Parts: sequence; structure tokens; C-alpha cells
Amino acid sequence: MFPVVARQLFKWQERLLGRDSFAILAQLLESERWEQERLQELQVARLQRSVQLAYQHTAFWRTLMEQNQLQPQMVQSLADLQRFPFLDKEIIRAHREEMVWKDEGKRVQLVRTSGSTNEALEFYTSSTREAQINAARMRGHEWVGMRRGEKELYYWGSPIELSKQDRIKRVRDWLINDALTNGFEVTPARLKSYFAQWLKWQPKCIFGYPSTFVLTVSMAQTLGIDLTELKSRGLKLISTTSELLSSVDRQLIERGFGVPVYDSYGLREAGLIGHECTHGTMHCMDEQVLLETIDPETLQPTEGEGELVATNIVGPAFPLFRYRTGDIVTLSHQPCACGRTLSSITISGGRAVEFIVTKAGKWVVGYSFIYIARAVKGIVKFQVIQEKLGAILIRLVVNEQFPPDGIEQVKIKAAQRMGGDDWIHVELVEDIKAARSGKYRPVISKVAEEMYRKREFSV
Ligand SMILES: [Zn+2]
Repeated sequence: MFPVVARQLFKWQERLLGRDSFAILAQLLESERWEQERLQELQVARLQRSVQLAYQHTAFWRTLMEQNQLQPQMVQSLADLQRFPFLDKEIIRAHREEMVWKDEGKRVQLVRTSGSTNEALEFYTSSTREAQINAARMRGHEWVGMRRGEKELYYWGSPIELSKQDRIKRVRDWLINDALTNGFEVTPARLKSYFAQWLKWQPKCIFGYPSTFVLTVSMAQTLGIDLTELKSRGLKLISTTSELLSSVDRQLIERGFGVPVYDSYGLREAGLIGHECTHGTMHCMDEQVLLETIDPETLQPTEGEGELVATNIVGPAFPLFRYRTGDIVTLSHQPCACGRTLSSITISGGRAVEFIVTKAGKWVVGYSFIYIARAVKGIVKFQVIQEKLGAILIRLVVNEQFPPDGIEQVKIKAAQRMGGDDWIHVELVEDIKAARSGKYRPVISKVAEEMYRKREFSV
């Protein structure tokens, strides 16, 4: 189908479902460049309205506000949001039916998160809310050069969704230029046929989970399939979502397909939270979701890394104020070269570049150092740190089995691994602390992170 026609048909579908996604998209494409103050005014107005509606229409929020001596009109600024206690999955599970405003609008319905990466959760959504999310997603796609109506391939879908896919849905998908390939059950034989279909269908973008793409790239290599052929048939980008995209995986996918990978981050229950622009900044959907970070232990607000707490200000059917996501992130207001004034988010654990770059320009996969640690007795924990090109520091926590020449052995093996004349220093330490996220990072390289950020792969 021609993109223009497909876009129009998609517009009609949205209208039929009571979703004014395209009108919202147009607004979003303007507000993303507003001055901070103007954007904040919008946020406060939407927060006030959400609080007012929650108080009026849901027993849970009214009771909670009354218990906290909180009147809707007391919310005058974003800081007033902190008068609300935190909300979590447990509370939603216990009070879901008192949290919903069933007469909010069209299609107020119960949905369920898949639970593939986290515990499953049931909550309500509505056309109003879905229109906002669709618009935000379309905006994210436009940032990286994809317009609704262009050929998008969805490389995912649970088997249940696929079996439900009847003729009508297939025709509809064809009309709006969507296609679906089952990314949950990839086998070498299937990959061969998928690849043949993709070459024929010529998608401009493929959406999917990082792990599926990693598997696909590795499998394609074994099968002798050259995925970069898709690029010559019009593939422009890979778009990932739902799982943390590690830098190792991102690079593997980019090399496999020969096109850039752009990531997005969202939670079904809270909305779309962030989408990357072509400068690699994950911008937040500030018009729809208010974000804070807290220390998960003390619950105090944090500067820098902390647990993400989200407030949705565009989903009155199922209001969510100060929802603890459990994800560790860093929020920032650093300006981005793309000129958008929206804030940005970095998700911890997924963004670490697990490579060491040698003086000779070799990208050594961080995990390969695990083999060194295994080869020498008595190493309990290790960490490789690279502050500058040409030098690495290996920190070791050892026990009594560590041999007298252990340090020397580690140095020799690391030098073999790196294959150059890099300066290697080995140091014994008492302990190696985990990052704030609770995740232990075996390799930390400022050099690789910096080069990766700039997409410079040679020294
Ligand atoms: Zn940007």
C-alpha cells in the first residue's frame, strides 16, 4: 500500500476507535520544542486536572487524599505532587477496582501486562489513554525518520496474538502497512523463510525485542544469511523496546543489519516514557508522564541515579500518581543537539558499554575477562576499569587459593586477550561494590562509552 494512503487509513481506524492520536501527535511535535516554563505550565495544568478527576471519580484516590488531608486545589505546582504517598504494584492489585473511572470515555477496558520481564499486572486503559500513547509512540518514530504509513514490521507477538490474527486483521494490517512476524519462536528454518518474506515485503523499519534481534543476527551468521541485504531493499532502522538494550547487544544488532538501532522505554501501566532521537538521547514524554527518582531504601528524592517514580497526567480512566516502577534510571535536563527541550532518561544496567578498547583499536568484549578470572585460581570477584586509551586497571578480590604469581598470570592472560602493548595494572582489593542499581559491572570503560556514544568505532 502507498504510504500516504496507509497513513490515511490508519487515521480512520484511530478515529473509529475514538482515538484522536493524530491531533495529539501534531501538538506533541510542537510542545517538544517549547521553553521549559511553558512546558511546566502544561504539566501543572494536566496534573491539577488529573488530581481533580481522580478525586471526583475514584473511591481509592478520594479516600487516599482525604486520609492525607489533601484537597485537589492544594496542588499548585509540580512539587505538590510529593504530598502523595507512593503507589506500587501491590496496591494496584489490592485496589484496582476502586481505582478505575469506568465512565471516563470510550473503551474503558481491563488489560494485562505480559510479565515477560516483570511481574504481570492487570489495570485499566481507555481510548483517551491509548490515543496519547499511540501519539507519543508515533512522535518517537518520527524522531528517527519513520512516519506512520511507511512499512513497519513487527517482529514479536505472543503465539496467542498470532493465532487470533484472522483474515480481517491481516487485511487491515496490509492496508495500514503493518506486518507481523513471530519473533517468539525463531528457528533456523523459520528464519530462512522470514528473511525471504522480509526481502519481498521490504520493511523500512523492524520493531522487536533486543534478545530476538540478537538471536536473529547470531543465527543468520551461522546460516550464511546476510541481513544487510535488507538495507539495500529499504530498511532504515531497527527499533527496540521492552527489554533493557545492552550496548553489546546494540552493537551486535547494528552490525548484523547494517542500520542504526533506536531504543524506547515504557511501562504498559504508566505509558510510554522515553524514545531515543537520532543523537542517541532518550527523551522523555514530559507532556504525558511526570518523572522523579528516589532512593529505593530511604525513599528520599535523589539527584542522579535512583528508582524511577512515574505519574501519568493523561490517563484519567486509571489515574496513577507516584507509581514506583522498580527501574533504576538517571534523569537529566541536559540540552540535546537535536534542539528538543524535553528532559532525558538513562536506564541503568542496560546502557553500560561492556567493551574495552585497546590501543590498536580492538573492541574486546568485556565478558571475555571472565575467562581470565576463571583460569586463575582464587579470584572471587573482578572488575576491569578503563579510564583512558592504552591502559586498564584490573581489580581483584581473592581468597587464600590465589597463587603467589597470580597477579603476573592475570597480566599475561589479559595481555593475550588485548593483543597489544596496552599498560595493564592489577590491584588486589578488599571488595568491589555493586553499582547503585544493585547490578555488578565487571567492565567499566569510559573510553568505550565515549567512543560508542559518538559512534566512533576506530581509534
Ligand atoms: Zn535529542
